[in-house]
Amino acid sequence: MKLSRTLFATLREVPSDTEVASHALMARAGFIHKLAAGIYVYGPMMWRVLRRVEGIVRDEHDRVDCQEMLMPAVQPKELWAESGRWDRYVNDGILFHFHDRRGSEVCLGPTHEEVVTDFVRSRVQSWRQLPVILYQIQTKFRDEIRPRFGLMRGREFIMKDAYSFDVSEEAMKQSYATMREVYRAVFTRCGLRFTPVQADSGAIGGCGSEEFMVDADSGEDAIAVCRVSGYAANIEKAVSIIPPPPAAPASVLMHKEATPGARSCEDLLRMFPDLPLARMLKTVIYQASWGDRQQTVAVMCRGDRQLNEVKILNHLGALKLELADEAVVRAATGAAVGFAGPIGLKDGVRLLADASVEGVQGFLCGGNETDTHWLDAWFGRDLAQPETADFGLVQAGDATVDGGGAIEITRGIEVGHIFQLGTKYSEAMQATYNDEQQKKQPIWMGCYGIGVSRIAAAAIEQNHDENGMIWPLPIAPYAVLLVHMKPGDEAQDALAQELHDALEAQGVDVLWDDRPKVSPGAKFKDADLVGVPLRIVVGRDAAQRGVEWSERARPGEKEALSAEAARDRAVELCRAAGRRA
Ligand code: ATP
Ligand code: MG
Repeated sequence: MKLSRTLFATLREVPSDTEVASHALMARAGFIHKLAAGIYVYGPMMWRVLRRVEGIVRDEHDRVDCQEMLMPAVQPKELWAESGRWDRYVNDGILFHFHDRRGSEVCLGPTHEEVVTDFVRSRVQSWRQLPVILYQIQTKFRDEIRPRFGLMRGREFIMKDAYSFDVSEEAMKQSYATMREVYRAVFTRCGLRFTPVQADSGAIGGCGSEEFMVDADSGEDAIAVCRVSGYAANIEKAVSIIPPPPAAPASVLMHKEATPGARSCEDLLRMFPDLPLARMLKTVIYQASWGDRQQTVAVMCRGDRQLNEVKILNHLGALKLELADEAVVRAATGAAVGFAGPIGLKDGVRLLADASVEGVQGFLCGGNETDTHWLDAWFGRDLAQPETADFGLVQAGDATVDGGGAIEITRGIEVGHIFQLGTKYSEAMQATYNDEQQKKQPIWMGCYGIGVSRIAAAAIEQNHDENGMIWPLPIAPYAVLLVHMKPGDEAQDALAQELHDALEAQGVDVLWDDRPKVSPGAKFKDADLVGVPLRIVVGRDAAQRGVEWSERARPGEKEALSAEAARDRAVELCRAAGRRA
């Protein structure tokens, strides 16, 4: 492809809303064009990358007999009412939904469990028809609270979603294991460095899930990993051994302490320098909602630990959990924000405690009275041990529960998520099959998502430098950038044309920078920005059939080669990268 024939245009200024490198570079290079928050035009270069990613995804799914199909983006509310998810998604605000001219309510699909279950229940009758795995690559719509980072978190984005249907739990686990291997293969072939982690199942539900995280400091997800035991989990899900509570002090009667203005553990540490943080118990007030009702929930936690709201939400089975505002805190505690405690909460407030408070005695806690705390409180003596479970956030240095070493916290970009759904959807929507005894049984399901457009962004988060993008060869928009230094020079024109044709003939796609009025310096600058992995420069030595070879990932390493040698090397590297035009 001649660059002069493309609508190639770079931006001189980085758009002001870019916070991460992939977004800034893709926007600058003209790969994407913002239409609205989280909604982008994928330009021709971007589309080539996305098609490459899709090709790898298809290839790996088809290899294990998954079948591609395409489901509608517009979905009727009735289906979502059957699964019981309409209210949750509407409540979350994530669902784009509207009325059609007949007054029926519809949504733009954020995911397709309902639609695929409806499709399968209309077709599957007998155990003989299972297992089956269906997938599609399609645009998804989610009205995210914070669309950001370009393609990383869009409101309209491309996802591959697959669904498995099996006769039993064991068979479902088999399909899940197959898909896990498919995922490893997909991300490996895309040239990404990634970590599979245990994950929370969130709104999709089900009984177990794993996420695939591209290792990147700019990632939105925090991951707990242990290099010794190999443990890896999303921090939302991660568990650890909590460091033991401090020794109990001598028993003293519980008493009130005036603590004017002390709303945080830091403030209290200044007032009680001898009291370890682990003997200060904080009480955080939340508002939980279930769609039809709300409740104020107070959760206790040791001063040296943090709460994990995902664990609290799951324990409550609530749809939403938010930090309470000042009015709710006042209503629950009778005090200003910062003085909540477990003793004397108003009726109707549900009290929970994180496992970290277990065994802590003689502690400080909020007094439910402005500017007041209780000191030397004992569980069992001054208050009953509240309903206690693991609501904690793991911390760096914690010991892992599987033995071995300490937890480290790293960051990642979630590019894939696989779920064992069990019979959640099939029971709610009556998707059944007849077993060998002609008895009706619910179908066992799994679902498996890959963020196709997010993969492109993640690849650039992992592979860029100050000059631009560095595409991994398997998903690059073009394999080779042919830099034609001086169009109009007869020898250069002839050799560039020849190389272009020879490479294309062998299935290597070439972007040919033939722009006549652009200086070599500007061409190299653009080349670095666009990040095509292999570069062949046709210049001074063209008459002797000499070219310069370099790779975007190794700036500064240039090699003089014959045109034939450069061609052969490009063909060989593309073959090794599994790249076919
Ligand atoms: P996240 O926690 O990042 O919001 P999710 O748990 O909502 O992701 P899934 O519902 O499992 O994601 O969707 C499957 C895949 O789709 C994700 O692993 C991710 O790669 C991608 N994805 C999800 N939301 C977005 C989005 N807003 N923009 C781009 N890709 C997304
Ligand atoms: Mg999400």
